[in-house]
Amino acid sequence: MMHLRSLELSGFKSFAKRTILEFKTPITAIVGPNGSGKSNVSESIRFVLGEQSVKSMRGKRTEDLIWNGAEAAPRGNRAAVKLVFDNSRRLFNLDFDEVSVERVVYRDASSEYLLNGSPARLRDIHELLAGAHMSHCGHHIISQGEADRILNASLRERREIIEDALGLKIYEWKRAESEKKLLQTKENMKQVELLRSEIAPHISFLKKQAEKIEKAKVIKEELAGLYREYFARENAYIAAEKKELAEKESAPRSLLPVLEKELAAAQAQVVAGAPAHDAREKELSAFEARTEVVHVETARLARELGRLEGESAAAERALRERKASQARRSVALADVETLARDVEAETLLARVKALVRAFIEKHRHAPAAGEAALEKEVAELAEKRRALEEKIAMAGAAEKDAHSAAEQLRGQMRAAEDSSREAEKTIFRLLARKSEIDGILREVGARAEALAHAEADFKRELQEAAVVAGRGAVQYGDILNSQNQDRVEQEERRRKIERLKIRIEDSGTSGADDVLKEYNTATEREAFLARELADLEHAAESLKGLIAELGEKLDREFKEGITRINTEFQKLFSLMFGGGTAKVLVVKAPRRVRRGAEEDSEENGENESDEFMRAQSEEAEAEEGVEVEVSIPRKKIKGLMMLSGGERALTSIALIFALSAVKPPPFIILDETDAALDEANSKRYGDMIENLSKHSQLILITHNRETMSRAGVLYGITMERGASKLLSLAFEEAAAVAK
Ligand code: ATP
Repeated sequence: MMHLRSLELSGFKSFAKRTILEFKTPITAIVGPNGSGKSNVSESIRFVLGEQSVKSMRGKRTEDLIWNGAEAAPRGNRAAVKLVFDNSRRLFNLDFDEVSVERVVYRDASSEYLLNGSPARLRDIHELLAGAHMSHCGHHIISQGEADRILNASLRERREIIEDALGLKIYEWKRAESEKKLLQTKENMKQVELLRSEIAPHISFLKKQAEKIEKAKVIKEELAGLYREYFARENAYIAAEKKELAEKESAPRSLLPVLEKELAAAQAQVVAGAPAHDAREKELSAFEARTEVVHVETARLARELGRLEGESAAAERALRERKASQARRSVALADVETLARDVEAETLLARVKALVRAFIEKHRHAPAAGEAALEKEVAELAEKRRALEEKIAMAGAAEKDAHSAAEQLRGQMRAAEDSSREAEKTIFRLLARKSEIDGILREVGARAEALAHAEADFKRELQEAAVVAGRGAVQYGDILNSQNQDRVEQEERRRKIERLKIRIEDSGTSGADDVLKEYNTATEREAFLARELADLEHAAESLKGLIAELGEKLDREFKEGITRINTEFQKLFSLMFGGGTAKVLVVKAPRRVRRGAEEDSEENGENESDEFMRAQSEEAEAEEGVEVEVSIPRKKIKGLMMLSGGERALTSIALIFALSAVKPPPFIILDETDAALDEANSKRYGDMIENLSKHSQLILITHNRETMSRAGVLYGITMERGASKLLSLAFEEAAAVAK
């Protein structure tokens, strides 16, 4: 079973120069005097496999692992160890026929790993080795004086060594890893739950807001509908009102100038009539004055006539008296004959009467002088009377004329007054009409003004509506006939709109878009967290399942392993001791403390490894430990404490070999494990080694001749000028070198 090909040391500890050990046979023995550097070889293998404890490699600092300089060579800056494996049978899960693992450290304590020449992480190296049932600390590298470590170990440590030897570490790691993941998952769940509980009040707040917004949206839709109807009606109302006002205004407006013209004319007429009236009045008073004058004159004339009539009467009386005294008067015949002829000549009676009267009159006055004078007086008076009466008649006529002229004037004035009154009546009528029209126009004006307000309101409301209830609110159609414009209903609508607006305002849903966006984001986040939590729960469940599964597997394989170990242990033990009994028992272990190897690690650069190990150790707390029970033949020794040094060594070897037999590691390094054996036991030891080498490659550091005799290749290491030197030896040489 050849896995290990070669080991190359460069500047590691006492190996100043590059030294290559080839492992061509199942058993390789390394021999040499004390202090030549043999153990350094064993340590170099632990080193290259990732040992982190410098102390376990007998150093204080990393630097101690680097060639420190001696006569042979000056001190180096780096220590490198390379282990080359045959991987043709895929010892490692790598698709290479040869695998090399190399580790280099520098004086500044920096460290690097190379896997087939490429840099690798320690963790990867650990996993790779674990997969091939190897480790730096394990069961298959038994350092000098540490053979009985398995006996000295605590119950739990022993269990770990056995688990490691059984190749169960990988399950342990997987389980530890899963538990770590589970822990992390639970932590994540806590975090997610915390986040959820943190955002929960925010979400419920936003939800309420969103509900409010939803409600407000419904109100808004209602409002928009109401607005549309309101606007349609308002629009129709305004149009109808405009039309009506235009119609109402047009007739009066056109009538007004006509009316005003008529009015002006009537007023002009009234004004024009005034001067004529004044003139007539003047004329009338002139007439009246003249009438008065004539009247006064007539009265005077009448008085004078009276006096004249008195005088005349007196004169006539006097005449009559005279005449009475002279009653018979004779008239010459000739006169009478003249008369008779005249009368005969006349055909007309009136002329006859006149001739007669004139005859009589002639003969009446003809008589005496006194009488004549009286007659003359009477005649003069009569003449005067006649003249006066003429005058009076004339005055009367004049008065009558003046009177009738005045009457005529008055008539004229009355007529003028009548016509002026008519004109005034017209004016009143026109004024009344005008005021009626003015009234209409005023009303129309007032309504137009109100309409202008309504229109301005309408425009403002449109803008407001768009803001409050969205664009939809202002997309009203040209509906409704203009008749049905109940302003009361419209006013009711208006009030309802106001009420809805207030409700929207009260809902406090300003910035709705932002709130909804935030709500969506928050609920998305919440949903994400819920999914995350479900995923985590799922992950936690499957991790728990995996942990349980690994636990069961570990337990089962561990117990099976124990049984098989016991078979081998018993066999090897009785072989060594020529009888007796030996077994390992699984017992409840007390709470363990962490392994010292980690605590004294000086290389802290490999944190992931530390974590890894710690997880392992913590995991082990709950587990059972392993007790070793032996009974040596013919001796009443039961406890390990009572064994002699040699017996202890034999027991250890039996157990170690039993472990290796149950689950053979690729190689085993035994550093002077055989030191305490007597000749008989050395032989048995040799037999066991050969047996073991069927399954594992062996590298034996030894001083024991018997052991050397079993090796296929012998290397001698000597110290020359402070540095280790490697020699290939024949068996006889080796025996000499070993001394
Ligand atoms: P023994 O048979 O007595 O157990 P050994 O052959 O196993 O001895 P080692 O213990 O491997 O010998 O080697 C120890 C030797 O290595 C010592 O001489 C020591 O001085 C030397 N050594 C250790 N570290 C260094 C170093 N850093 N530089 C040089 N030499 C070193």
